[in-house]
Amino acid sequence: MFIKIRLSDIEGAKRALPNYYNILEGRKNAIYLKSKGMSLDCDLSKSEHELWDIHEKAMLSLRKSEATKNPKTSLLDLKLKLARHMLSKCELCERKCGANRLMGKEGHCHVVESKVSSEFVHWGEEPELVPSHTIFFSGCTFNCAFCQNWDISQNPKSGDAFSPTRVAEIIKRRSDSTRNTNWVGGDPTSNLPFILDTLTYCNVNTPQVWNSNMYLTEKSMKLLDGLIDVYLTDFKYGNSECAKRLSNVDNYWDIVCRNHKIARSQCGVIIRHLVLPGHFKCCTKPILEWIAKNLENVRVNVMDQFRPAYNAYEYEELTERLTREEFKHSYEFALGLGLSLTD
Ligand code: SF4
Repeated sequence: MFIKIRLSDIEGAKRALPNYYNILEGRKNAIYLKSKGMSLDCDLSKSEHELWDIHEKAMLSLRKSEATKNPKTSLLDLKLKLARHMLSKCELCERKCGANRLMGKEGHCHVVESKVSSEFVHWGEEPELVPSHTIFFSGCTFNCAFCQNWDISQNPKSGDAFSPTRVAEIIKRRSDSTRNTNWVGGDPTSNLPFILDTLTYCNVNTPQVWNSNMYLTEKSMKLLDGLIDVYLTDFKYGNSECAKRLSNVDNYWDIVCRNHKIARSQCGVIIRHLVLPGHFKCCTKPILEWIAKNLENVRVNVMDQFRPAYNAYEYEELTERLTREEFKHSYEFALGLGLSLTD
């Protein structure tokens, strides 16, 4: 019988996530505090185009800059302004619906107002992350047939409309007993402006984790640069056809590969891959090979938790649970590639 080894490879985790551990061990500040403390001589009423130019230049010096206490205008203020601009013709994710969400219009995800479905101390995340303060938003940019959280992800109007100040208070309260703030959903992307707004009210030195399907636009990825300490990604498909069939998204492979490279250039990355029954050749194998070839020093979690849920029964291969043999094959394939595995 195959039993997945519980990995407590702390050295591997520290190699892949050095800044995260520096923050946890008090040697560094979470990067969002730098953006919050970086003073900009900038008039936020300038055009969106001009503001992106200012952002571009500011990002070049962020990591070398000294933090100022309560600057009049900070890099985080600029990021929030740009995120709100993006909401007026929504292009937060690669669906690029163009809906004016500031005027209450809905795009594909149907998120208008950010709703928090739940927030709690999560002990089920990877060992390097727990205990993790997870904040679950309702709604998602994907429509995965087998979504295990479909009651949250496909119901964007469910949950509570907390204010950013209220969420910041909760983060402060949870920060004593958790190692990070873990932004998740559904998917957090539709809520990016709300999250940035919340960070303007936060002061705790807590690493920020972006737990996402990684279908963000490049502009959204730019806004996250300087705010996020760890990307916790969900790499689902090894090609765009499976993604279209099972999650109703276009051009998945190119977008998600691009964003993993961007994420790795910004900070630490933990990649989750849920092995789907019958998808070794088309998905698991190409994903793991791509990671081994393109991303240095990332953590990979090959997951065996698939259960037929939501609309999975409409897809023949997803009507059964994953067999032990299928998982063993996937896991050993990842080991053979020399990937740094976590669970
Ligand atoms: S976040 Fe929602 S509204 Fe915005 S582009 Fe994506 S799916 Fe469309």
